[in-house]
Amino acid sequence: MLSYQHAYHAGNFADVHKHLTLFAVIDHLLRKRSSITYMDTHAGRGLYPLAAEETAKLQEYREGVARLWQARERLGDDLLLGDWLTALGRMQSRAGGLDHYPGSPWWLSQRLREQDRLMLFELHPGEHGQLAQQALPDNVQRVHGDGLQGLVKRLPVPSPRLCVLVDPSYERKAEYAEVAEAVCQAMRKARHAVVLVWYPLLPAGRHRELLEGLRDGGVRKVWRSELRLREPQQGERGMIGSGMLVINAPWGLDERMEAAMAKILPLLGETSRHRGDWWVGE
Ligand code: SAM
Repeated sequence: MLSYQHAYHAGNFADVHKHLTLFAVIDHLLRKRSSITYMDTHAGRGLYPLAAEETAKLQEYREGVARLWQARERLGDDLLLGDWLTALGRMQSRAGGLDHYPGSPWWLSQRLREQDRLMLFELHPGEHGQLAQQALPDNVQRVHGDGLQGLVKRLPVPSPRLCVLVDPSYERKAEYAEVAEAVCQAMRKARHAVVLVWYPLLPAGRHRELLEGLRDGGVRKVWRSELRLREPQQGERGMIGSGMLVINAPWGLDERMEAAMAKILPLLGETSRHRGDWWVGE
């Protein structure tokens, strides 16, 4: 049963980490003209008004995107952060305000060129229904179905380049292994694909199963970025950090992300840390 709804968490520190990494990857990919197929295996509903009942309940965005938004003039010295915040500003209903947080479908579609296409998979009927109502360009296809199966089934793609975001809710423990298996299958069918995989850092360290699955499956050239808010307290079970893997990470992504994360960390609290490393080499 699907009970997770991203609207409760929209714009939190993990969204910032995930969407900034995605934005940086797209930036690198757009340096060449050849066409790109993007796939978002777990799309969610696409756009999150911050005043919506679900988002207003926990207000996680206050400790995430709102902190960057308040510091946007200072952060703008960093080109990546400046561009990301300018793009975020375009989604707002009034200049200077922060009233919406865009999800991955929007971060992907707003920089789609004529020659590119985007496939958005969403399994939850309610979330898919809302995604279907979003105004998105014609070269965006929305699929109501399983994103991991949909990804593997549609490979290889006709375009020379492929970029995939895998961003499950990990509601079920089995998802860590399922993601690893699907990504390994996808990499066998599309060796040059740039694949971003998000995972939560939990006190239980469940993401290790995902990492081991990918390593055992032979995935190469992986840059890892982990944003940790704090060390877990005794008995704590919730998310304490956010992890991103970028398989076939573009050259220079690591340095740009390190610089941007160094500017963000002081806004997220004294105990927050970022670690970027080449987890698996070529
Ligand atoms: N990627 C979105 C973003 O960045 O804005 C957030 C996605 S949210 C973390 C995970 C989404 O995956 C939920 O909307 C959930 O309904 C959906 N989902 C769960 N299992 C799925 C599956 N097997 N295939 C596709 N979507 C799934």
